[in-house]
Amino acid sequence: SVRVRFAPSPTGPLHIGGVRTALFNYLFAKKHNGTFVLRIEDTDQNRYVEGAEDYIVESLNWCGIPFDEGVGKNEKFGPYRQSERKHLYKQYADELIEKGHAYYAFDTAETLDFHRKDHEAKGKTFIYNWHNRLKLSNSLSLSEDEVNAKLEAGDDYVIRFKSPQDETLHLKDSIRGDIKIDTNVLDDKVLFKSDGMPTYHLANIVDDHLMEISHVIRGEEWLPSLALHYQLYGAFGWEAPEFAHLPLILKPTGKGKLSKRDGDKLGFPVFPLEWTDPKSGDVSRGYKEDGYFAEAMINFLSFLGWNPGTEQEIFSLDELINAFDLERVNKAGARFDPDKIKWFNHHYMQIQDNSNLAIAFKNSRNELSEIDSQYIEMVIALIKERATFVSDFWDLSHFFFIAPDAYDEKASKKALKEGTADILTKVKELVNSIEDFTVENLQNTVKSWITSNEIGFGKVMMPLRLALVGALQGPDVFDIIYMIGKTETSKRIDNLIS
Ligand code: GLU
Repeated sequence: SVRVRFAPSPTGPLHIGGVRTALFNYLFAKKHNGTFVLRIEDTDQNRYVEGAEDYIVESLNWCGIPFDEGVGKNEKFGPYRQSERKHLYKQYADELIEKGHAYYAFDTAETLDFHRKDHEAKGKTFIYNWHNRLKLSNSLSLSEDEVNAKLEAGDDYVIRFKSPQDETLHLKDSIRGDIKIDTNVLDDKVLFKSDGMPTYHLANIVDDHLMEISHVIRGEEWLPSLALHYQLYGAFGWEAPEFAHLPLILKPTGKGKLSKRDGDKLGFPVFPLEWTDPKSGDVSRGYKEDGYFAEAMINFLSFLGWNPGTEQEIFSLDELINAFDLERVNKAGARFDPDKIKWFNHHYMQIQDNSNLAIAFKNSRNELSEIDSQYIEMVIALIKERATFVSDFWDLSHFFFIAPDAYDEKASKKALKEGTADILTKVKELVNSIEDFTVENLQNTVKSWITSNEIGFGKVMMPLRLALVGALQGPDVFDIIYMIGKTETSKRIDNLIS
């Protein structure tokens, strides 16, 4: 059965790229009736950030892509925090030592630094592997007694993977196809440290195995680790999962990887939810707080590296689950276009429930606290076509709630002509004369009066709109009259012409 995992490290808020990784895992899991696991990779205590784990969970929930199994939920392979699995990993490091795939190393940071600089000076790169390891301090270069003495003395050590010499590894990636790697370019990566903590590599492989993960779908930045991960599976004698490395997300210019700073610079969020840094107190904007709908963000993110192979761009989550396929994920980096997510938001605005929008709108403006919710909903129905965010509503609709207190200068010049006062007085009478007060009757009455008197439409409609709105914008004039009613319409006409 399909079991995939999202395995973030709680080192800060989940970046939009992390949400894309989670989404592709989610879609793949759901498509194959599989399980989407959340595992928290917190072995690096130095980089742990307070609140990051909660933020990750809240973000997945807000996006509508909750995990099936993980911290606090269906914990059948738990615990799901690596820090709570600490006791588990040493035996696996030991197993590799026993099998000859790993060894103790005692080199100090200074020694390693010395070798690095020494190589650099000669124009070479220092690689800790077969080429150098016998010159260094480890269980391959020292005698057994020496090694035991160091361990007994409590010297700091690490356990390194023993990368083979002169071999070619054949790796497979569902997106990139076959990859060949010469083991001579690989270094003996650290798997375990004397503080009792595994490194990312060991913990990740052990946990993917124990949690029976079938497919590893993650960002391209992990591709360089694939060779080691393959070798670890081989060394343990475990079957490796299938791997798929998702393409990079590029800056809006298409050049270089999208970074947190790009958002600040260009004025768009790079996080799903607002984040307050626990140390500095700095606040980073979130898509949610900026007024984006989760569906819009998901639809947008689904196209970062994937496409359905058709012209269709609008996909509900269920449609995405149906259409998603790792085979249609590209290798090439995907450009992040902050305007495109606005386009999606405008679309999803149109299909939001007006009663929900009315609540959000009402909560956002003091002017609306006393206004009937149903009236607000009707207003929203008239204006949402032009709105991308709830925060656009007020500018598009204030005249449904309050009379204009000023008239746009340019608009006035255009709309106010000789005879305007007489015309608007007549319109006022017409409006007040209508007994069955409907938009249709309003329209018919005023329009037939205009036609039969051979007055230009603009001569009537422009000043009328100016009186009602204060500018030459807004939805249909008859909709506005119908909504605000006879009395308010009369008042506004009087205000303009008196
Ligand atoms: N903890 C890694 C991260 O933060 C997980 C990488 C992986 O999926 O293997 O992205």
